[in-house]
Amino acid sequence: KPVLGIETSCDETGVALLRWEPGQPGRGLLAHTLYSQIKLHAEYGGVVPELASRDHVRKLLPLVREAMAEAGLTPQDLGGVAYTAGPGLVGALLVGAAAARAMAWALGVPAIGIHHMEGHLLAPLLENDPPSPPFVALLVSGGHSMLVEVKAIGEYRILGDTLDDAAGEAFDKTAKLMGLPYPGGPALALLAEQGRPGAFRFSRPMTDRPGLDFSFSGLKTQVLLAWRQSDQSEQTRADIARAFEDAVVDTLLIKCRRSLDVSGARQLVIAGGVGANKRLRAALSDAAAKDGFRVYFPRLEFCTDNGAMIALAGAIRLAGGQQQDETVQVFPRWDLQTLQSVSETADI
Ligand code: ATP
Ligand code: MG
Ligand code: FE
Repeated sequence: KPVLGIETSCDETGVALLRWEPGQPGRGLLAHTLYSQIKLHAEYGGVVPELASRDHVRKLLPLVREAMAEAGLTPQDLGGVAYTAGPGLVGALLVGAAAARAMAWALGVPAIGIHHMEGHLLAPLLENDPPSPPFVALLVSGGHSMLVEVKAIGEYRILGDTLDDAAGEAFDKTAKLMGLPYPGGPALALLAEQGRPGAFRFSRPMTDRPGLDFSFSGLKTQVLLAWRQSDQSEQTRADIARAFEDAVVDTLLIKCRRSLDVSGARQLVIAGGVGANKRLRAALSDAAAKDGFRVYFPRLEFCTDNGAMIALAGAIRLAGGQQQDETVQVFPRWDLQTLQSVSETADI
């Protein structure tokens, strides 16, 4: 039976319906809807938690109805409800968790709280020809930059993490300091397309020593200095954007290669909002062809937050027989490595 997925961890309300089909997870996606609060937060230059929660309250049920109509389903058709239980903004998470638990309780079906980053890292399973564990996942989003060894679904080991800014955060902050509109990441990437390669050069942080951790905040400072000392023309701004993007992409590429060596995996999964970056996708595809590994990406709209990835993770866990008690509980901070492994007998 279809699983309803609900995502409300930050500033997008995402809803999806997915019917579990072992072997072909992506084909089971019946409907998905999304409402982004970007405009709401734009005038503050960042996400305002209280406004985010209130907007999730306003948008969630209409989106659920819309997805149900799109899939031609009634609530009685549902076999379970999955929701993001963390990490994220506590008030925003509570909106999704309370609604999901209430719906599941009223319908007499199980509900399950999902780790937002597990959702991101399983998103490539929504595509045809999906990867299967073991693989390494590069999770690069607004709040995370991690390399994760995926031994099985639910069995995650963090190989590398960020010491300061996440990759997406670095994109956003760098865009802001060069005066680009909020949210800066995609705007910076677009501008970089007009930039001349090699006009500026920034360092590849932490690639000169062993290890898989990241640090992107220094790069931001290098950009600030370069921008202040420049003529601040449109072309210069694009050139700096290009050099910044090249530095981030190159750094991520070096660490991805290293993580494949360390883990012995031959499959690499890219997920999270920065996974939508064209140059990153191209660089990793090239490297995969050269080095002989396989790389998997979600489609662009499933790189950033969405309900489909939560429905998928929930469907897998429910199919694996996972149970949770009925309390409404969220985890604003939540270590990915503490998740329950999905039973090895679960048919994926
Ligand atoms: P987290 O998943 O860590 O909680 P989040 O949910 O806010 O954070 P996502 O929705 O996965 O993050 O991704 C948003 C981030 O992706 C933003 O920082 C945004 O700038 C970045 N991003 C989106 N598109 C691009 C792009 N084309 N190039 C670079 N960065 C991008
Ligand atoms: Mg967002
Ligand atoms: Fe996210």
